[in-house]
This record gives sequence, C-alpha cells and structure tokens, in this order.
Amino acid sequence: MFKPLDINDNKENKTGETTASEHLKCLIIGSGPAGYTAAIYAARANLSPVMYEGLQPGGQLTTTTEVENYPGYPEGVTGPVMMEDLKKQAERFGTDVRWGMATKVDFSGEIHKVWIDDEKLIEAETVIIATGATAKYLGLEDEKKYAGGGVSACATCDGFFYRGKDVAVVGGGDTATEEAMYLAGLCNKVYLIVRRDELRASKVMAERTMKTPNIEILWKHQTKGLFGDGVVEGATLVKNQGEADEEEVKIKIDGFFLGIGHTPNSDIFKDYVNTNEVGYIKTIPGTSKTNVPGVFACGDVQDDQYRQAVTAAGSGCMAAIDAERYLSEKHG
Ligand code: NDP
Repeated sequence: MFKPLDINDNKENKTGETTASEHLKCLIIGSGPAGYTAAIYAARANLSPVMYEGLQPGGQLTTTTEVENYPGYPEGVTGPVMMEDLKKQAERFGTDVRWGMATKVDFSGEIHKVWIDDEKLIEAETVIIATGATAKYLGLEDEKKYAGGGVSACATCDGFFYRGKDVAVVGGGDTATEEAMYLAGLCNKVYLIVRRDELRASKVMAERTMKTPNIEILWKHQTKGLFGDGVVEGATLVKNQGEADEEEVKIKIDGFFLGIGHTPNSDIFKDYVNTNEVGYIKTIPGTSKTNVPGVFACGDVQDDQYRQAVTAAGSGCMAAIDAERYLSEKHG
C-alpha cells in the first residue's frame, strides 16, 4: 500500500538534485497552457505538483509570435511571454518545475511509475498528461528559414496577420480545409495545395471548401520551396510531379500555412492509455479521466477538435480538479 505522502519530498529537489526514485501526489508531464494551468490548480489544492517541462518548455505557443485571442490580454501578448507568465504563476503557488522529459511509464499498478530521461523514477498517485501535439511540417529547409516570417501551422493563431492578403494552405484533410475556410474569411485569396486529385477531408468540409469563391484548389501540386526577402513572398510548386506534363509553378503569397496534420505526443502512454486511431488520448467525455484511474489528460494530446491555448488551459484546470477529487475519494 502506498503511504500518505510527505509533501516535503518534492521540495528537497528544488536544487535539481535527483534521488533514485521519488514519491509524489501529482506529477504533471508537459508545460504548455494545459500543463501550467493544471499546475496552478493542483498547487493551490495542496497537491504539491512536480512538472517536467519536456523537450519544448512552454509548448507550441513558444513558436508563435503574437497571441491576440487569449482572453485577458487586450493588447495581445507574445507566446513566449505568456508561457513565462504562466510558469511564474504556477511556481508562485509551489509547483516544482523541472527540466526533463518523461521517456517511459508503467501504469499497471495503483501507483503510477514514470521514468524521466530514462534514469530517474517517479512514483505518483496521480499523473496529468499535458504533452500536447506537434504540427507536422513538410521537412523543407525553407520552413525553418521563414519560421516567424510567413510560415505557420496555425491559421486561428496567425491568420489575422494576413488580412486582405494572399496565402496558401498545404494539405487536403479536415485540418487543411478548416484552415483554408478560416483564412478565406480574412484573406483576399487562399490557395489550397493538394498533392492528389481529391480531398481527404470529410464530405461536408470538402464541399464547403470547393464552393468558397476565394479558395483556389491547386490539385496535384507539391511544394518545392518558398522565396522572399526575409519574409515569405511566394512559393515554388511542382504540378503533376513525376508525370510527362510535370511543370514548375510559382505563386505569390504572404503566408504559408501547414495543414497536413498534427502528431499527438502520446507514444509512451499507448500501452496503458486508450487512444484513437490517430493517437489522441481518449478521455471520458466532460472529464479529463483516461481509462487508467489516477491518470488524466488535458490539452492538445487529447483534443483533435479545438487545439486552442484557452481550451487547453480550461482542460488543464479540469485535470487538476479531477486529480484532486480522485485523491480525496481515495484517502477520504
Ligand atoms: P489527415 O491525415 O486527415 O490529412 C492530412 C492531409 O495532408 C491529407 O490530405 C494528406 O494528403 C496531406 N499530406 C500529408 N502529408 C503531406 C505532404 N508531405 N505533402 C502534402 N500533403 C500532405 O490529417 P488532419 O489533421 O486533416 O486530420 C486528422 C484527423 O483529425 C482526421 O480524423 C480529421 O477528420 C480530424 N479532424 C477533425 C476536424 C473537425 O472535425 N473539425 C478538424 C481537424 C481534424 P493525402 O490525402 O494525399 O494523404
């Protein structure tokens, strides 16, 4: 039986010293808006949370520039500043935020085991998974070259900056068509770059996209590169690649949006936690509970629908409350 915890267990590690294994009430994996919000609530509920930040401290928002749609920031805020503020708020209430990445888990027992960087073992009564999702990129050098200069993987985050301009979205699934529809409402013209001669998107989204007058679908086009002086001014595409009539096409655009999907960062949990076919963690609707008692999921790792900072934060709050209730019920 797991003994009641001494919350000082967590504090002695503030110096960064590690012990072979450590016992916690609440471990939070991942440090985007979901993880930090879970940490704020868990810390204020005396769960003495420890957070491991993961490979990209602050999560996906640290790669965006201005965030203008998060309530409470009338002038907007940059992604990195917002994440730094959330971190300070989580630490203010005692969250122990640490460098490190969860590399392996064992959720087979009542106490959950998580290994950090393949070395340190954490034993936790509750685990909050907030590992997010990673937008897929094509793998072009130019995507890196123009990062923050016209390349984005989030139309809802960055579309506003391209009002009245011409942009392109790559992909033919629901993400791409949704991004294209969203951008069509803001931009002068949207090119949808589709590598096949049909859309993978759901019928309703495909029809809507094809009926939108300022979306032009470039069928059987692939992206070769981007060009522009410091910022994106256009894209070089290849039409009918590998066929007799293959040709190079240049389009003038100010923004290049990736819509080829996201990869939820759920790999290490899949042996224990139920996921859908794409890998998003399944939660019991209306809660953050997974199929494993004491393991909760929040933010983009369990959300293929909204993927917004504010919805992630909201679900982080739910996860902390669910964890607190789980512990109260367990210990009375
Ligand atoms: P999908 O895997 O469904 O679609 C990815 C699209 O990107 C496909 O058209 C694919 O082409 C294309 N693609 C992939 N790699 C490349 C590449 N290297 N170059 C060019 N094109 C490429 O991902 P989504 O993110 O669109 O959707 C994932 C899941 O989430 C789906 O189940 C979807 O229904 C769901 N979803 C639901 C939404 C909603 O209901 N509101 C919104 C967003 C997603 P190809 O078809 O040739 O493979």
